[in-house]
Amino acid sequence: MMTSMTKTLLFLLTLAALLLTACIAPPAIAPSTTAPPSTEAISRVDGPAPSDDLKTSATVQVTALISLPISLYILDDETDAHSSARTVEEVKRILANANEIWSQAGIELDVQNVQRLIIPAPLLEEIAQGEFSGFFRAAGIDFSIPDLSLINGFYVRAIGGPNGIAPSGTRTFFVMDEPSVHDERVTSHEVSHILGLHHTLDDRGRLLYPGTNGTSLTDEESVVARYVAQGLLTGVR
Ligand SMILES: [Zn+2]
Repeated sequence: MMTSMTKTLLFLLTLAALLLTACIAPPAIAPSTTAPPSTEAISRVDGPAPSDDLKTSATVQVTALISLPISLYILDDETDAHSSARTVEEVKRILANANEIWSQAGIELDVQNVQRLIIPAPLLEEIAQGEFSGFFRAAGIDFSIPDLSLINGFYVRAIGGPNGIAPSGTRTFFVMDEPSVHDERVTSHEVSHILGLHHTLDDRGRLLYPGTNGTSLTDEESVVARYVAQGLLTGVR
């Protein structure tokens, strides 16, 4: 039988190993400057004080996570003639994978809800042609969008050509059902525009290179995205 103390010890050992792997500076992990290297340091994480030290050092080392509330909608019409083929589970999975991409900037998309939403068929037909103004005009009048968040994503069957689009100044994005690149990349790329980032043609491995599966963010892009994200959270944008 595994005692709770054994479990705690295993957890702390795993945590210590992870922190060591993550190149956290050894002095921050060692409980005191007189402690001999690794084995002694790890054996001592059993006590409460060193484990607190571990938590503290991890918090200090890792940049604070910025959490952005996001709501996601799968758009359908009454007759299903233009409805998206995506499922709620699929969209949740896309967001989980998009969060892996955004973790490199210390940004988390905090999913508030994922739901299907029926809107008038003519609006979906317009969206399928890449025309979004009717949707924004009718929102709140011809149909309501429940549970809006700071950022809102709409998954639709088609958007008239591109994989995704983030109409400027709306804090919303649209993603088509069958993009030419990975789903999580499309969603992450559109969110990057909402967070103030622009296209680059430097490197196909980058998230901001159009039409590829690139997912990397430069340090500068991460700084800009975090700055804009903070602005959104405090309401200055
Ligand atoms: Zn783009």
